[in-house]
Formats: sequence, C-alpha cells, structure tokens
Amino acid sequence: MDISNKRVLVTGAAGFLGSHLCDRFIAEGCKVVGMDNLITGSLNNIEHLFKHENFEFYHHDVSKFVFVPGELDFILHFASPASPIDYLKIPIQTLKVGSLGTHNLLGLARVKKARMLIASTSEVYGDPNVHPQNEDYWGNVNPIGPRGVYDEAKRFQEAITMAYHTFHGVETRIVRIFNTYGPRMRLNDGRALPAFMGQALRGEDITVFGDGSQTRSFCYVDDLIEGIYRLLLSDYQFPVNIGNPDEISIKDFAEEIIKLTGTDQKIVYKPLPQDDPKQRQPDITRAKDILSWEPKVARADGLKSTWDYFRSLPEWEIIPRSFTSA
Ligand code: UDP
Repeated sequence: MDISNKRVLVTGAAGFLGSHLCDRFIAEGCKVVGMDNLITGSLNNIEHLFKHENFEFYHHDVSKFVFVPGELDFILHFASPASPIDYLKIPIQTLKVGSLGTHNLLGLARVKKARMLIASTSEVYGDPNVHPQNEDYWGNVNPIGPRGVYDEAKRFQEAITMAYHTFHGVETRIVRIFNTYGPRMRLNDGRALPAFMGQALRGEDITVFGDGSQTRSFCYVDDLIEGIYRLLLSDYQFPVNIGNPDEISIKDFAEEIIKLTGTDQKIVYKPLPQDDPKQRQPDITRAKDILSWEPKVARADGLKSTWDYFRSLPEWEIIPRSFTSA
C-alpha cells in the first residue's frame, strides 16, 4: 500500500522504538512529525533525520495539551519510559504519559480524523499465570508494585483507547509489544541486554538477577517495526501481540552474550527485583493470521548487530557501573 502522501505523528520519536518508526515512515515517503520531551529519549537517535525535508520535530511533553498544526493521518503513541529502572526514577511521569498523554492524543486523533496506534506491552499480562500469553488473557498485575505505574498506565491506555473507538468512533490500533532489542537501546536503561553488553564493554561482571531461570523472548527491532507497520495499515482494532516466541532463560541469555562478545566476564547473581515476571513468551497466532507477520531475524544475528552498535558508541557513552545496576 502506498502511504507516501500521509502525515504521521510519532510520539517518543527520540526513543528506541520511536526513532526506528520515524525512519520507517520517512523511507515510505511520508511526512513525519516527531515529538519527544527527551526525558529518556536522545536526539542522537534522530539527528540524521533533521536534514530531511519530510521531518519536523517538536520538543514537547504529551502529558500536556498537544497541538500540531495541519493535517494528520496517523498518530503512533510511543512516548513512555519503558524499563524498570526508569519507572523507579520517574514513576509519576510514567503514569501520566500512559494516561493523560494517551487522552490528549486520542483527542487530537479525533479532531484530525487520524488513525491512532498505541504502544501497549506484554506488561499488561503482569507475572502471567498462562503460558504462552495470548491476547485473551487478562493478566496478573500488582497495581502497587514497582512495575504497577507502567503496567496500570498501559492497561488504562488500552481501556481509554477502546472507549474512544467505541464511543467516538476513532480508528484505533493496539500493539502489545514483548521484549525488543536492537541498535539505539539506551546503554544505561537497566534492561538485561544493554546491561549485559555494557558490562562486557567495560570489562565488568555480568549481573544476573535471581537464579536466572526466569525467561524472556527477545524480538529484533526490525521485525517489531514491520509488525507494527502492518497492524497500523490493517483494519483490526483489538490488541495484537508482536514479539518473538523464541524463549530463553536469562542465565542462558547472559551466557550467549558473553560468548558473542568474546569477553570472559563471569556471571554474578543479584537479588531478583520485586514482581519480576517468571516467564514470558508471546502467542503470535493472531499476528500470523491477521497480519501474515512473524519474526525473521534469528537471535544470533540480531545480537550481533546490536553488539556492533554498542561497540561503535563513543567512549563517554559507555556509562559507569552505578547507572546500570539495580
Ligand atoms: N535482568 C538481569 N540483570 C540485569 C538486568 C535485568 O538479570 O542486569 C533480568 C531482569 O530481572 C528480568 C530480565 O533480566 O528478569 C529481563 O529484564 P528487562 O529489564 O530487560 O525486561 P523485563 O523484565 O521488563 O521484561
């Protein structure tokens, strides 16, 4: 489908996923409006887009009233802190961007008659009691735990998005994103992959939380962006899981990274954070059926590209240990 005449607003444009989405829409010939308050995003991720005539940028917090002049065809709401370390540091902003921010953007979508896609998350399933997780599972979330500010904001986000769809007829799409990795992740965001690769770069021990038997299923960013793109252009308004079902324990994941980086770091075990999900794997039957989508990039290849990216960063970005440990 040719969408080259469309104008797209991406919130969280300077973040990991937002910046890759901006690249994708620019490549499709769209006009892209990026928006970010730069709390967790970095202009480094979109610096290359500033010279592009189809790209413009607003430094703005979407938790406050959002104004964008001109027409908009699509709004993709990707602004949010997205790692447990961030939620602990900025819990109120995390709640506000998922709730007030989504409300503002749904209002904007309504007046612009734009289609709105929200970035939801596997965190709506909490520490899941069913495995793998399909979209009909309602989740097991602790509202007052450390992840509650993110999980409940995202659950509210889904609720208000469906309400705008049913009550106001706004065209909406909901993607539930599982663990994703790739270039432009923040080296100090505390997530497992950048933590392990950062430690490898600095020659530090690799910190595995708990006994490392908890599992995650990691999706390479290019696969994720393709899934989101297809969902946006589909006519399906219910949530769709996008992720890679290739599940691995965190201990095995740490060992894969030690092997890949060719460093001989040893693993040290630290306490498991509260409410850390024991296992996570997406059931992607719906994405396969509705979007004809499934991930293509093997973990070995994706990890290599990500490692090459982290290795290419200037030395001052390889931030000291205190920022990387929980
Ligand atoms: N983790 C770890 N060491 C670290 C950072 C994270 O063992 O230095 C663990 C974390 O406790 C979790 C898993 O790795 O069990 C994935 O963590 P991440 O923050 O990447 O994602 P999430 O828990 O939100 O899925």
